[in-house]
Amino acid sequence: MQDKINQIISLLEEEFPGLKSKPSKSDPLDVLIATMLSQNTTDKTSYIAFQNLKTRFKNWESVMIAPLSRIRAAIRVCGLVNQKSKSIKKLLKQLNTKYGSLSLNFLKKMTDDSIYKELLQYNGVGVKTVSCVLAFGLARDVFPVDTHVHRLTNRLGLADSKSPEKTFKQVKDLIPRGKKFLFHTLLIRFGRKICRANNPLCGKCRLYDLCIFERKEFYSIRANGIPKENNFIILEHV
Ligand code: SF4
Repeated sequence: MQDKINQIISLLEEEFPGLKSKPSKSDPLDVLIATMLSQNTTDKTSYIAFQNLKTRFKNWESVMIAPLSRIRAAIRVCGLVNQKSKSIKKLLKQLNTKYGSLSLNFLKKMTDDSIYKELLQYNGVGVKTVSCVLAFGLARDVFPVDTHVHRLTNRLGLADSKSPEKTFKQVKDLIPRGKKFLFHTLLIRFGRKICRANNPLCGKCRLYDLCIFERKEFYSIRANGIPKENNFIILEHV
């Protein structure tokens, strides 16, 4: 399996040359909130919601003590506003109670496994969210799995699972060290341009011979469609 992964990485690097193997580091708490906002919406709307929070409130302490109606108004554009506003406010309160301040900079000294354990105890924070904090907030070499990466890894036969969480567990240790974040980024680009959820462009796919998707022959002769938006790209700009 590792040979196959290396082969896929090489082919995708040829398709998308020059991608960074590490993201720029952002504030880990910013990334945590931005990822919570990104659930079930596009990069664009979650980015607008995140920017609204940053500009309408002085800091995360202000968000923590603000009425829910103000938080809802700021993030309205990104959907699920009741759930997201409550989760964010609750999380900020819990962090403040436990650590005495609203900063996640203490995570910098912790191992990846300890950080997963620490953050997964909070409601609304799942494996994908913690992986994003590690990758985009702490520049760790991890492999965030969202619905798109889940789809691609299963079509390529690297995982066999029904959920991103299970896919993450199956794949994370198979990817060579130092290539996890790069592989994630390559798959996101590939999913956006070629292996889309609907109407994948199998006829133009460099990975065709490595793919086990049962409908690839059918899609290889279908007409091209319009690329859709995808998650995670925006987290590089938080
Ligand atoms: S052949 Fe089609 S389904 Fe398989 S990886 Fe390529 S685009 Fe995706």
